[in-house]
Amino acid sequence: MTLLWDQHTCLPLDLDADVAALERYAPLERGFVSVNVGYSPHSYEFSTALLRTFRARVAATDSLALASTVEDVEAITATGRMAVAFDLEDSGPLGGDLRRVQEFWDLGVRTMLPSYNHANQAGSGCLDAEDGGLTAWGRDLVSEMNRVGMVPDGSHCSIRTGLDLCAASTRPTVYSHSCMRAVWDHPRNITDQQARECAATGGVVGMTGVGIFLGPNTPTLEAMSRHLEYAVELVGIDHVGVSSDFSFDHEEFVVEIAASPELYDESYTRWGPIQWMPPETFVTLGAYLSGRGWSDPDIAAVLGGNFLRVASESWGPADG
Ligand SMILES: [Zn+2]
Repeated sequence: MTLLWDQHTCLPLDLDADVAALERYAPLERGFVSVNVGYSPHSYEFSTALLRTFRARVAATDSLALASTVEDVEAITATGRMAVAFDLEDSGPLGGDLRRVQEFWDLGVRTMLPSYNHANQAGSGCLDAEDGGLTAWGRDLVSEMNRVGMVPDGSHCSIRTGLDLCAASTRPTVYSHSCMRAVWDHPRNITDQQARECAATGGVVGMTGVGIFLGPNTPTLEAMSRHLEYAVELVGIDHVGVSSDFSFDHEEFVVEIAASPELYDESYTRWGPIQWMPPETFVTLGAYLSGRGWSDPDIAAVLGGNFLRVASESWGPADG
């Protein structure tokens, strides 16, 4: 069976969240999911507490298992269970302390992006009017992530921050969940240059299932395929992946978006409540691409092989 590697999904950021909801990805494919454990509003204390809670619940769920290494992913998915790791959508939960990169790695975080939509200590966000790029602290952050073996992620960053991230990193980078701006003009989507420079690091750009990033709030397999095909044409089959970016608590999240103009501007709200592609649709992407004439090796690369390669080159110390 094909490996379906979802590089970013969003359980409720809540200590009461039901991690067994991840089983919604399970039916059709060998599966890996990276689960978000915090972004700009969240503290070090909250994100580490959430990680400990999620880890315990994953470990207690028969169909799920924690993956620390690529070997773990292979072993877990070979037995029909879903492999789970974690990501941070902002460096804010580090609380300004770079030593915590290792601590978050030890708790299972394998991907982190420096800034979420707006500027912080590390760099600028995609909704900022002024783009200051990666800060000096942001460069130190990338260096520490490279040392520890956590993948630098440019999603939600400003254009220049994303480009600086790729230039600064000595190991592959990703845009975990960012569609193509040339296909649909949205500030959360990336430019051709961002995609090219990410690919040049050996990295991967992950197309998402979020309606407002795919088109006029259209979370369809057809819209996702248009972004995938554009990206493959631009950067090659080895540098494109997928991430559902599914919000399991989307009813609450659309209320939060409407109530938080400091985090989300009208580019998030102008199409009405955001529509997400449900996991049950996302897991049929391979069959859909096959129907569009994609070859099996190309489908395997984009559904999971490419992000798996980045993980195999990136998770853990460079000399390990
Ligand atoms: Zn996001």
